[in-house]
Order: sequence, then C-alpha cells, then structure tokens
Amino acid sequence: MKYNRVYNFSAGPAMMPEPVLEEIRDEMMNYQGSGMCVMEMSHRSKVFQQIIDEAEADLRELMGIPDNYKVLFIQGGATLQFAMVPMNLMKNGVACYVETGAWSKKAIAEAKKYGEVHVVASSKDRNYSYIPDCSDLDIPENTDYVYICENETIHGVTWSKLPNTKGHVLVSDQSSMFLSRPCNVSDYGMIYAGVQKNVGPAGMVIAIIREDLIRDDLDPKVPLYCSYKTHADNGSMYNTPNCWAIYCCGKVFKYLKKLGGLEVMDKINQDKAKVMYDFLDSSKMFKGTVDKEFRSLMNIPFVTESAELDAKVVAATKAAGYDNLKGHKSVGGLRASIYNAMPKEGVEALVEFLKKFEAENA
Ligand SMILES: *Cc1c(COP(=O)(O)O)cnc(C)c1O
Repeated sequence: MKYNRVYNFSAGPAMMPEPVLEEIRDEMMNYQGSGMCVMEMSHRSKVFQQIIDEAEADLRELMGIPDNYKVLFIQGGATLQFAMVPMNLMKNGVACYVETGAWSKKAIAEAKKYGEVHVVASSKDRNYSYIPDCSDLDIPENTDYVYICENETIHGVTWSKLPNTKGHVLVSDQSSMFLSRPCNVSDYGMIYAGVQKNVGPAGMVIAIIREDLIRDDLDPKVPLYCSYKTHADNGSMYNTPNCWAIYCCGKVFKYLKKLGGLEVMDKINQDKAKVMYDFLDSSKMFKGTVDKEFRSLMNIPFVTESAELDAKVVAATKAAGYDNLKGHKSVGGLRASIYNAMPKEGVEALVEFLKKFEAENA
C-alpha cells in the first residue's frame, strides 16, 4: 500500500478514503487561498460558513433528505444521543426499544433515566446473533417513538427490514452503517450517526430529524446544548462546532458523490462483504457468528474453536499488516470492520492470509 499504510480493520475510528486524506493534506497549510488551515479558522467566517453549507447540501443530495428534515452537526458522539433522544422526544414519557446488541442496550439503559421504556423485542437469548421478528410488536398507544440500532457494531447484526412501528415515530442509530447504502429518510422520524465509523474523525454526530419533532416546550432543566431546537435554530453553531470534523465529513460527501452515490457504494460494499462471508462459509477453522439473513456488511465478527487460537490469529494478522482484528472485549473472537473506505483488495488480501493460516495450522 501507498505511504506504507496498513489495512486497518478497526471498528472506529476507522479508515478514511485515501483521496480524501490527500486532499486534506494538500489544504492543510492554506485552505483554498484563505491563508490558514481549517483548524485555525473562525466558525463565524464566510469561508467556514461555506464549508458547513456545502457539507449539508451534499449530504442532503446524497441521501435525498426531504426539506422537512433538519440536518444537525452535534458534538458528544453518538453516546450523547442516547440521552438527547429521550430528553427531546419523550413527550408522553414513553418509548419502545428493540434490544439487538451492545449499542441498543446502552441506549435502553440511558433512556430509562428519562421515562418508561418498553423493550418490545430482544435477541439476547442467542447472544444478539439475529434481529427479532418486529412485524407485530406490542406498542402502547401513547408511545413517543420506537428506537432501533440499525447496525450493531459489536455483534455484527443489521436489519434486513425495518420494524413495523404501527404509525409511531422510528428513531435509528445508524452510526456504523451511515452512507453505506441508500436510505429512505422519510421512513424515519430521526436518524443519527457518530461519524467516526463510516465518515470522518471522532467527536461528532450527524442528526437528521423531522421538523415537527423539534420541540420548544422541553423541561427547562434540559441543558441548552441538549435541545435539538438550540442546534436547529442556530445552524449547528450555537457554540463552536467541531469545525474540523465538519470539514472532513464534507470532503467524504463529495468523494461519495463523485463515486456515483449511495447505490454505487452499496454495490461495492456488497461485493466486498461477500469475499469475507464466502470465505467464512467455506472455512473449517473460522466461523461467522451471525444468522445469514442479518449479517452486517460493515462489521463481521468471527471465531475459531478456542480463545487461544483467536489470539494467535490476531497476533499473526497484526504482524502481517492487517490491524485491529481483535473482537470487542465483551464478545471476544475476531471482527473485521470493513466500512466504505476499506478497499476490496484489503478484504481479499486478508482472506488470502487467513486461508494460508488455516492451511498451515490445520
Ligand atoms: C460507536 C457507536 C456508538 C458510540 O459512538 P461514540 O461516538 O463513541 O459516542 C453508538 N452507537 C453505535 C451503533 C456505534 O457503533
């Protein structure tokens, strides 16, 4: 690989597209004749206003975001949204959550601080290796929203079909699948994504929220920063935003547009994941841990027969230039995160390496 880089299979922060990094490098000392780096720039300047406006416009175009949705750039990562969602959207104080893995579990625990939470379906019985049937959930009439994590980064499960919310607002954490495929925004009341998985540097979330869900009657004790209205009314600049992350994300949006958009990205991601899954399905040493229908195209957990062998594989892959394949500490095993920016060659090379390892260690 160019620049002596490794294939980085990290779950996040994760790989960025190389042409984007090169552009950022080229603009580092003097952004487009402004005489300064974006890091040094006032967020109130005309130059930065254009950066954020273009980022929003490009994202709207990529996803086909309808006009009645706001796009907000908020700090605090995806984790702050676990609290902001209930703080802002629990009007009746009631919400339904689907428990499909580590990240929805965290969101549930946080939401319970703010109101009545119904866990209407769970896949805990088989260690979150599938998505439960959500075609006929028991949803109380006064539910404010139904919440899902659309791609469980740690357990590697993804929804093949959205839940039947019976007319209630759907809220989705798309952190680890954002912009990996086309998305029909109007199926949701709100979508949010921490950007360090599939888009840019850590420390920012992008929230896409239907305007009628933005309230001006929140409990006055809700911090101003935690009200969606604060961000919506101030163009995501009530206070100093994460200018650097907005700039880098904007570059990635332009890169995706140039590539041909989310349908093209989806096709690439499907081809890429197939290389890994075909290998896991044919291997005697390595096994995927998720039911086929719900396999993530982004995060692929897999195991050998023992923790010792898992550790041996992790060490061997790292030494060979395939980094961060150790599974999350809560589940063990291995995990290959192959977001948008991971080239297919990276997955092919990893599979070749694992095949060789299997042959030599059978
Ligand atoms: C990483 C991740 C989060 C947490 O993101 P932070 O930016 O670290 O707060 C939440 N949800 C999902 C699905 C994630 O993958």
